[in-house]
Amino acid sequence: MLVSFFINLKLPALQKVGAYMMHPVVAKFGGTSVANVSALEHCADIILSSPDIKVVVVSAQSGVTNLLVKLAKALKQPVDIKALIQEIQSIVMPIAEYINLPAVYDKLQKLLSELMTLGQISTRMYNQQIADEILSFGERISAMLVSEFLARKHIPTKYIPAKWFMKTDSHHGQAKPDTKAISQQAAQAIYPYVNEYVVVTEGFIGSDEQGNTTTLGRGGSDFSGALISEAIGAKSLQIWTDVNGIYQVDPRTTSKACVIDSLSFNEAAELATFGAKVLHPATLWPAIRANIHVFVGSTFSPKQGGSWITPKQKAVQTPVIRAIAERKNQTLLTIKSFDMFHAKGFLARVFSVLSKHNIGVDLVTTSEVSIALTLDNTTGCSTGDSLLTPALLAELKALGQVDIQIQNGLSLVAVIGNQLNETKGISGALFACLKNYNIRLFCHGASGHNICMLVDTTVAKQVIEKIYQTFLMTNNMQEVSA
Ligand code: ADP
Ligand code: ASP
Ligand code: MG
Repeated sequence: MLVSFFINLKLPALQKVGAYMMHPVVAKFGGTSVANVSALEHCADIILSSPDIKVVVVSAQSGVTNLLVKLAKALKQPVDIKALIQEIQSIVMPIAEYINLPAVYDKLQKLLSELMTLGQISTRMYNQQIADEILSFGERISAMLVSEFLARKHIPTKYIPAKWFMKTDSHHGQAKPDTKAISQQAAQAIYPYVNEYVVVTEGFIGSDEQGNTTTLGRGGSDFSGALISEAIGAKSLQIWTDVNGIYQVDPRTTSKACVIDSLSFNEAAELATFGAKVLHPATLWPAIRANIHVFVGSTFSPKQGGSWITPKQKAVQTPVIRAIAERKNQTLLTIKSFDMFHAKGFLARVFSVLSKHNIGVDLVTTSEVSIALTLDNTTGCSTGDSLLTPALLAELKALGQVDIQIQNGLSLVAVIGNQLNETKGISGALFACLKNYNIRLFCHGASGHNICMLVDTTVAKQVIEKIYQTFLMTNNMQEVSA
């Protein structure tokens, strides 16, 4: 009902809306930033001190989505539904108690009892559509609570459910946004309110053409923030999280890494694509399309500054190697077939089977009779299910006399930088510093912005530290580029 109400609103096109604030700022707050009352106090301070923030996109409270994933998988891995929901309740209830309004308790209880019903269904059946419905409750509860919390702090808020405008295809768990529909519907749903209110909405979730709930993949709230920014022509997108910006290396891997205060769109997109969890892999694409500058900073220390991602980074002299990222949970699929020898079209057939099963391939190397490729299980779908289903393997086997090997427990380590494909000695220097490690696969040359390696996850941290010490800590990448 509400969806069609907004669609039917005959608002003028966005650029012609003279009376409305033209270029608001969109702020996305991640799971730790909305985790509890004390974190929410910081969010409120940020919003109060930046009057241009007119749209707030929120994640679920930290830990809630992981619990919801367990709930959604209750058929496969039995769990105590009631205990799980109580655990979720124990995370979110203190926020409701702080707000302390009967209407808020009512809304929360209603959401939790809907969740209980879905949890009971999930003990009897599992499919990705129900899983997405269940996963959406984290963000739905969060957006309701954040909106009420900010109102309690005298910030006039309007809660607009993301399902009204975040239109996607029906690929549950990893839905693809329909940017045209989002632009039309987000402008109509959000824009009328930005003068008077701070609009609060959910990240991560959307809806397909039939109105069914979809999700954008784990960590997808950053992507939602960018899509909304694009749709409403935002001046900038602020990503508020638990670190002071984008570091050269995940600060959890090495405490010595520094924040990079200015990154180009390309550099940040590569970092996000190759696993820097601080940004969902697709976040930068809407920002690049719409030329929206992105800020990443800490909710808990906003005065410390952060990282700005702009079309070009601001440093006069760009170091060759800028950062290192790791993506865990990689699968190496090796397909060996003597049919491949001097045959045409074998690779095309392999890729068409993978594409039919909606599988994206990251790294590829080939020899005369074998092909090795890496698949990412972490971004494959929101519930982290294995992508290599029996149906897919059967289709691959039917391609000819194939021998398939699957290796798990691998990490993709990506070195991110500029002109890496034009820099003399870079591969040699990398191999030299990693001489004590087995690099299972090495990809260099396709892009000037990355060099990728597949290593055993057990040694990934050591590999990253070695690369960091050799190229970033001593700041000696200029030598390599000489
Ligand atoms: P949020 O819930 O706010 O979206 P995430 O946990 O998704 O937060 O992302 C923030 C985390 O990303 C940090 O705590 C950090 O450990 C991790 N991270 C990985 N790589 C980087 C990097 N290069 N710079 C900063 N943080 C990174
Ligand atoms: N809550 C979702 C997740 O944990 C989305 C997000 O936080 O961005 O993956
Ligand atoms: Mg995140």
